[in-house]
Amino acid sequence: MPDDASLSSFLDQHQTTLQGLAVTALIERKDNRAQRREKLHASRRRPLTPQITEAEKHFRHDGWAEHRKVVDHALRANGVSPGCLARFRDCGSRCSLESTQDGQEWRLVAHYCGNRHCEPCQRSRAKRIQQNLVHLVGLGDWRFVTLTLAADTHGVGSIIDRLLTCFAKLRRTDAWTTAVDGGAYFVETTRGKRGDHWHVHLHALVCGRWIDREALRDHWRRITGDSWIVHVRFVTDPEKAVWYCAKYACKGCDAALYSDPRHLAEWMRGISGRRLVGTFGCLRGRRLEQQPADSADYHHRCTLGEYLTALSQGEAWAIGLKKYAARTELVERDASAAIDAAWPEEDLPGTPAG
Ligand SMILES: [Zn+2]
Repeated sequence: MPDDASLSSFLDQHQTTLQGLAVTALIERKDNRAQRREKLHASRRRPLTPQITEAEKHFRHDGWAEHRKVVDHALRANGVSPGCLARFRDCGSRCSLESTQDGQEWRLVAHYCGNRHCEPCQRSRAKRIQQNLVHLVGLGDWRFVTLTLAADTHGVGSIIDRLLTCFAKLRRTDAWTTAVDGGAYFVETTRGKRGDHWHVHLHALVCGRWIDREALRDHWRRITGDSWIVHVRFVTDPEKAVWYCAKYACKGCDAALYSDPRHLAEWMRGISGRRLVGTFGCLRGRRLEQQPADSADYHHRCTLGEYLTALSQGEAWAIGLKKYAARTELVERDASAAIDAAWPEEDLPGTPAG
C-alpha cells in the first residue's frame, strides 16, 4: 500500500497530466474554431466583383465623383460589410457593350452594385421602374396623390414607418376605397431648411375615379393626429408622371446631405431595410424593379476599353455609337455570371483593400 505522501504525489502527477490534456484539447478546440472562423471570413472576403479599372471608373462615376467619396465615407461610418463596400467601389467593372444582330440597339453589361446610394445604379433602377410602370398607364384614369407628415424630430426610420402605417390605414377608408383601384407609392425624404428635422412625403400614382380631396384630408388628419396636407392632381400625361415618380423613387438623398456627413449617415441607417417603393390594390404584386425581358437577342461586341480606344482613334462605328448613347441612354444589364463565364478565371482580380 502506498503511504499518504506517495499517493498524494501520484495523484498530483496524474492531475497535472489530465489538466495538461484538458488544456491541450481546449487549445485544439480553440484553434479549430479560429480556423473555421478564418475560413468563413476568407469566404466572405472573396472578391464578389472584379476590380474596376481606371477607364471604367472614369466612364461610370465621373459625373458624381465628389458625392461618391462622401457616400463611401458614410458607408464606412455605418459599418457596412466589406463585401457591400467592395461591390459599391467596383460598381461598373468588367464593362462591355452588346448589340442586337442588326446593330440597331446597344446596351451596357457589367457588374453593378445596385446599392441604394450609388447614383448611376439608381438612375438605371429609375429607368427599370419607368419601363415596368409605363405599360400600365392604359389601365384607366390616373391621379397623383401626395401625403405629408407634420415636421417631426424623431429618427427618419421611425417617421417612414409611421407614414407607411398611416397610409395603410388611409387605404382602408371609404374616401379611398370608393375612388382608388390601386397604384404605386414612393417615399421621399428631405431635411428641413433649418436642418433640424426630417420631412417625409409619400407620392402615390393611383388609378381610379374622382377623389374627394376634403374627405381624404379629414381622414388623413384623423389618422395622423397632426397632419392634414394632402394634394390630389389629375394626371394628364401619365407617361410623364410615371417618369416623375420613378425619379422620386430612386432619387437618393436630399442633395444638402452631401455636405452634412452626420445626417447623411443617419439617413442611410434610417432607410436601411425599409421599403420606399411599393404597389397596392390592382397593382399589388407587380414587380416594379424587375429587369424587363429582352425584346431581341443581344451579342457581345466589344469591351468598354476596346470601344474607348476605337473612339480615341476616330473609328466611325465608335463615333456612331457615342451619338447613339447620347440620344438614347444605354440600358444597363447586370449579368455578372455570364460575364465571368466569358473571361478567364485568372483574369479575375481581387477586391482592393481599403
Ligand atoms: Zn452601383
